[in-house]
Amino acid sequence: MNIATLLDMAAAGSPDRVAIGPRDSGLTCARLHRTAAGVAALVHRAGARELVFAGVNGPAFPVLLFGAALAGVPLVPVNYRLSAEALTGLLAHTEKPMVVADEAFAGVFASAGLDVRTPEELLKEGLDAEPAVGLEGSADDPAVLLFTSGTTAAPKAAVLRHRHLTSYILQTVDFASAGPDDSVLTSVPPYHVAGVGSVLSNLYAGRRMVHLGTFDPGDWLRLVRAEGVTSAMLVPTMLARVVEHLSGRPAEVPTLRSLAYGGARMPHTVLKAALRAFPGTGFTNAYGLTETSSTIALLGPEDHRAAVSSGDPAVRARLRSAGRMVPGVEARIRDASGTGLPPGVPGELWVRGPQVSGEYRGAAALLDAEGWFHTRDLAHFDAEGYLFIEGRADDTIIRGGENIAPAEVEDVLLRHDAVREAAVVGVPDEEWGERIAAFVVTHAGTSVDAETLRAWVRTRLRGSKTPDTVVFRDELPYTPTGKLLRRELLTDLAAPTAPTAERKG
Ligand code: AMP
Repeated sequence: MNIATLLDMAAAGSPDRVAIGPRDSGLTCARLHRTAAGVAALVHRAGARELVFAGVNGPAFPVLLFGAALAGVPLVPVNYRLSAEALTGLLAHTEKPMVVADEAFAGVFASAGLDVRTPEELLKEGLDAEPAVGLEGSADDPAVLLFTSGTTAAPKAAVLRHRHLTSYILQTVDFASAGPDDSVLTSVPPYHVAGVGSVLSNLYAGRRMVHLGTFDPGDWLRLVRAEGVTSAMLVPTMLARVVEHLSGRPAEVPTLRSLAYGGARMPHTVLKAALRAFPGTGFTNAYGLTETSSTIALLGPEDHRAAVSSGDPAVRARLRSAGRMVPGVEARIRDASGTGLPPGVPGELWVRGPQVSGEYRGAAALLDAEGWFHTRDLAHFDAEGYLFIEGRADDTIIRGGENIAPAEVEDVLLRHDAVREAAVVGVPDEEWGERIAAFVVTHAGTSVDAETLRAWVRTRLRGSKTPDTVVFRDELPYTPTGKLLRRELLTDLAAPTAPTAERKG
């Protein structure tokens, strides 16, 4: 199946339903289909082999996603926040692109000698063009190329084929299941897999999409109230900003029934504050990777409620879990030698299923002979099949031969009243192999010293897991999609101008 079929179904099933934008003046399903088919004709006429989009999330993104699908070429949403140099570097990896860029980012492409259109220009031209038919290609063709976030290495383009994306949608979403007043607020950027998944799942469910191009917590709350938004998805850094913006007040968003979060580890303190601020909203934790076509495990609203109210420690612990695997995705925990591990024992997570691509452009597929993909996440399952993600295997600190997951130390630091954010990294060290450095942001108006925090960790974990160094920061570096840039922290520590660090004597 091609993702364009999802649009065909929506347009045939409810042509007059508003798919994108304001309730009274948005783009209907039929018009979305018509515009996308016009865009496809333009792409085809230009002889383009890829449609590159550098822009914030907005009504143009779904049109471009389906326009590319109807033209039989992949959409390549790129991170518009990258430097001109990095963007032109990414373009070197594209093939005969047609480039669509918001006015603010168009200059970079124009100066690289490329023909650039703004989304508004393309949509207008698309509406006037004779719609394309019969170009969409097969289920095995690439639908989207996504440059992975590159927190640890140079960006690589993950290939998501039509069959991966449609498998994900057909397994997890019921067609036309949304109510007539349902709407979703999208504020994740188009170059993140959650942005792609959101367009497909909400169109297929029949939920009107409302966009917030540039995230701001106050604007987000205002838009939820003004549009009567019923569901939304945020990455943890965005939810943390909303919680901070509310500073203990209730969110007062009576229409918001569902709030999903994911894309990175959610700090427990932020989740607990969010549950208090949104008492009438059901929370969902969505865990997934670019290479798995978005969500592969979900912790739903009932699980959240049960965890909050249960007296059973195993159920309460699930507030830190990513929930259970979605239908169609199998999971195994294996040790470094590939041997399967039982529930309760942490190891590396491997997954398999029709939505798992595990493929990068220009490289052999990363699936093993039986179709398993190594996520590189450290994880364990509890006895009931709930998945707990402990972080990236690559981030593991090996201090004096002992493996230490940064998340374990970060969680303890975050339990201290003065600590707002914490990041723990391994620093190369001659004696120990690696030493532990903790970067800490304190809550406004509080203060704590390094020795107190070290003692706090030492009494709750053990000496070998106590940070050797504690560095206080005003903020930590994250990608716009909420991923902590651990490498940047390490580089800063190595630099001669590193901020004052308090060291163990
Ligand atoms: P990306 O492919 O750039 O979206 O990154 C995927 C990685 O983000 C995963 O391998 C996890 O390490 C992390 N991640 C995504 N969602 C979650 C979640 N709900 N909880 C914890 N970590 C997550």
